[in-house]
Amino acid sequence: MTDLTTVLVVTTVAGLVTGLGAVPVLFQTSFSHRVYDSALGFAGGVMFGASVFALIVPGTETGTVAEVTVGVAVGAAFLLVANRLIPHAHAEYLRWKADGTARDEDAEEADSVRKAVLIGGSITIHNAPEGLAIGVAFASGLEGVGFLLALVIGIQNIPDGFAFAVPAGATGVTKPRLVAYTTLSGAVPQPVAAFVGFSLVELSEGLFPVAAGFAAGAMIAVVFREMVPSSHGHGYSDSATATFVVGFLLIFVVDTVLVV
Ligand SMILES: [Zn+2]
Repeated sequence: MTDLTTVLVVTTVAGLVTGLGAVPVLFQTSFSHRVYDSALGFAGGVMFGASVFALIVPGTETGTVAEVTVGVAVGAAFLLVANRLIPHAHAEYLRWKADGTARDEDAEEADSVRKAVLIGGSITIHNAPEGLAIGVAFASGLEGVGFLLALVIGIQNIPDGFAFAVPAGATGVTKPRLVAYTTLSGAVPQPVAAFVGFSLVELSEGLFPVAAGFAAGAMIAVVFREMVPSSHGHGYSDSATATFVVGFLLIFVVDTVLVV
């Protein structure tokens, strides 16, 4: 079984990749909604694919359908409850203009501290289930699945970071801070959640099917609750749908080829 240090290093690296999403925002402050919606669609497809092929399927291979089903239902319910309790910016970007700039009323009302808390809350809700998934997979002894999850979650952290950096950049934060905040948004919650998932399943390997289901349910809930709504309503639903399918297929192919 992979040791905890390796898991923490792997999830921290995957989390740090989030910072790359801020790079385009350093050169350009406003983006077409087509780019934004497509990036979110792709990230959503990857998360959905990872939930199915890297968590639910391995879960049923080591446990029962009932265990995985209960895990998925509880994970999704947990996400929805956390979503209510933790203050965060709900599909904040929906209210922004199609050219990527904030509406004037919004810019004026933007109290930076409050905004930071909201964005921090939303990014934690989004990134914690991903870290949990990686930790759970490694603790189960499915090393290949653990590395695959870390890889694909790292990849989709780039569009995640981009989705975070575009509105954050529009608040007028300096470029070094923008990169730092975007990087921290992934590099903090993911290793913490991975630690929780890893420790839990390490206590009892029998927990894997339920824990894998839980992480999958939470990720699927994030996709439908946050990412799908945020990528629609600007006239680019077709692009977002196409990239969602591409992301989903990417995981299907990678999972089939790499983890037999
Ligand atoms: Zn994500």
